[in-house]
Amino acid sequence: MPINARKVTVIPGDGIGPEVIAAALRVIEATGVKVQADVRHAGAEMFRKGIVSGVPQDTIESIQETKVVLKGPLETPIGHGNKSANVTLRTLFETFGNLRPVRELPGVTTPFTGRKLDIVIVRENVEDLYTGIEYMQTPGVAQALKIITRLGCEKIVELAFEFAIAAGRQRVHCATKANIMKLTEGMMQHTFEEIAPRYPQIEAKHILIDNCAHQLAMRPEQFDVIVTTNMNGDILSDLTSGLTGGLGFAPSANIGSEVAIFEAVHGSAPDIAGRNVANPTAIVLSAAMMLRHIGEGTAANDIEQAVLVTLESGMRSGDMSGTAPPSSTTDFANAIISNLGRESTTSAARDFHAVRISPMRDEVSVMPVTSRRVTGIDIFIESELQPAELGGSLERLVEGKTLSLHSIGNRGNTVFPVTDQTVSLVDQYRCRFLARNRNGDISDAEILSLLTRIGNVHRWMHIEKLQQFDGEDAFSRSGK
Ligand code: NAP
Repeated sequence: MPINARKVTVIPGDGIGPEVIAAALRVIEATGVKVQADVRHAGAEMFRKGIVSGVPQDTIESIQETKVVLKGPLETPIGHGNKSANVTLRTLFETFGNLRPVRELPGVTTPFTGRKLDIVIVRENVEDLYTGIEYMQTPGVAQALKIITRLGCEKIVELAFEFAIAAGRQRVHCATKANIMKLTEGMMQHTFEEIAPRYPQIEAKHILIDNCAHQLAMRPEQFDVIVTTNMNGDILSDLTSGLTGGLGFAPSANIGSEVAIFEAVHGSAPDIAGRNVANPTAIVLSAAMMLRHIGEGTAANDIEQAVLVTLESGMRSGDMSGTAPPSSTTDFANAIISNLGRESTTSAARDFHAVRISPMRDEVSVMPVTSRRVTGIDIFIESELQPAELGGSLERLVEGKTLSLHSIGNRGNTVFPVTDQTVSLVDQYRCRFLARNRNGDISDAEILSLLTRIGNVHRWMHIEKLQQFDGEDAFSRSGK
């Protein structure tokens, strides 16, 4: 082991992972930076051994010690385990922010060549639909919970602005679907608008996610940093890597308060695994991000410059268009190594500062409110009845009680009181009950009593309290 070497956990991964990770380790070594690779395993082989999470204990312990990981792609084998090993690692170490930078690269020809694209997607990495909380509410109706928290929004928005400052960026867009999902995606927009004034040197703009996708296809050069929720970011970041040459060139960093995991955006590409043809650029650029993270900014710049020089020299990896014969993974890495110390003619090295990352908080995160009350309840009922029949039955059950039936929805449409709307019905109804006294505060006893009465006649499977915080409704309006 080199004296005073910085220990990092290295996970070779599946498919092309071991080939590209070996290339990245050789490039790191050639920079002269003293890194000790603590090689550990996760992914397909671990699932086959019966490790349900795909991540064995010794790998977890290594990461707890080193706090920094260079990771190859991990397969998610179908039929083994509940979660992917990638999701396990992200959640286990709460790497809440995923940074995915892409830029125009010399020799990598795309329809956008010449437009100098240089975009970083900052994706929330642990919340949203990816918490994987799903239910079959009836045999034919599935539900996924989209969990968005104020804490998660604050952390990712702060990371986006802090990264923008550290990387000398000018502008941060926040991309959401707040016009439809006013509480979840809206929380990201509001948090962004609250935090943005703390960074007056950075231009801050909100954009709807669908328009953002359109603008990325039409005028991508307007974007600098884009912060967004998990699923939006997953899709947008693959789109931006497509704009600049594809997955073989897209690096990423999963940033947590304590642990950071660096990996290529691409997966294990089983179709080309073991053939020494994979493009190592994405993982080599991820390794550069890792070096910058551990304070080796000069070596990081050297690697980035060497990658640019290699591409400028006309060298071509298998996933690049062109007529020159493609280089093998090892030859491509060798060329990067031989170009260390040379400066690109197309792009100067950048001046980065350390990114300030918000610390882990021990206390339970709470948004204080001065007043709160329960104004009603949504009860989800599985029923084959037509809306008028179900509505009549429920109205009889609440006659003379504190809660009255307000409306019934089916697939997001109001179907009771009966409307002229034509709706294809399914056997899941959202039945909204509101307090007859508009200022009332419904007790749990009243809710349980209603559930018992409904349960005697119908099959209910889910409830949601309708709450008001500081006089504001904390739920979406019922149906269209
Ligand atoms: P993928 O592994 O990214 O591969 C898609 C295609 O992209 C490959 O077939 C290959 O296309 C090309 N490609 C990707 N990386 C390349 C490289 N470095 N050099 C040259 N070409 C490259 O996506 P996938 O096939 O959907 O996923 C395969 C497995 O990887 C799945 O089990 C998935 O769960 C996993 N995965 C893991 C991660 C991760 O660990 N972070 C991320 C994504 C997917 P050609 O056909 O042109 O050769």
